[in-house]
Amino acid sequence: MSEAPVHAPPADAETRRAAEPLVCYQVEQLPPNNLALYQQAREGLQRVDEVLVPPRDGRCFEVPAGHFFRIHSVDGPQVGDLNLWNAHDLSERFFSGKTRQLHATHVSTGDRLWSTLPGLRPMATITQDTLDWYGWDADGGGIHDVIGTRCDPYTNHLLKGVDYHHCCHSNLTRALVAATGLPAQQAELHVHDVLNVFMCTGFTRDTHQYFMKASPVRPGDFIEFFAEMDLLGALSTCPGGDCGSSHSDDSTPCYPLRVEILEPAEGALGDWTPPARSGYPRSHGL
Ligand SMILES: [Zn+2]
Repeated sequence: MSEAPVHAPPADAETRRAAEPLVCYQVEQLPPNNLALYQQAREGLQRVDEVLVPPRDGRCFEVPAGHFFRIHSVDGPQVGDLNLWNAHDLSERFFSGKTRQLHATHVSTGDRLWSTLPGLRPMATITQDTLDWYGWDADGGGIHDVIGTRCDPYTNHLLKGVDYHHCCHSNLTRALVAATGLPAQQAELHVHDVLNVFMCTGFTRDTHQYFMKASPVRPGDFIEFFAEMDLLGALSTCPGGDCGSSHSDDSTPCYPLRVEILEPAEGALGDWTPPARSGYPRSHGL
């Protein structure tokens, strides 16, 4: 709310405000997350590929279903913006809004990254997070958020009237162009709301505005995922660096991020199979 209210509160305003909050989704009803199986499987992981994302840039990477991928902090504190697609169908992609509703504003080990409708199935499960100690700080901030969208040149143009080409939206677009050969303006339409890897964010207590603060990530930290389906991923090294001062410009120190693709030992996943698409018949009452 940017304007002061113009309507006087009703006599029972306090009673109305005191209604009990309910968590919207009964997440206990979700299918169990297989974390115990994945934790066991990660004992014998072998690295099969590696992608280094340079500062203020983006790169794609592929992860076969049943493999793991890790995003590592190297050289200095750096935030990453992650997109995920079904490798065989770019229309099925990471659904940050539903992931937020099903889990929380920030995600960590055991949480799943869900795909868009009509698929609505886990694309990846977080299996390790070296920043899980952070929890919630005194400002209400947490790590790895699914609230922010991604920095983009349109908002930058709107707010500052300048064109900057290394926002995460553009970095992800260039990465997808390089990986698929799609024309830039088509590839751009596949770029979507991200998981803000290593980013420390929250809402201000007084005005509930989205804030960022310097990420606590340090070289050696990583977050690890299990790929629930064949994935095409894209990672941008945000021009905001640790996002402790500014973004969408070249003034902040930025560092690379390293993505590792890891394969579990033969048979380590037992009879695991990728999750099926939602069983809803898509008839919508018609
Ligand atoms: Zn960014």
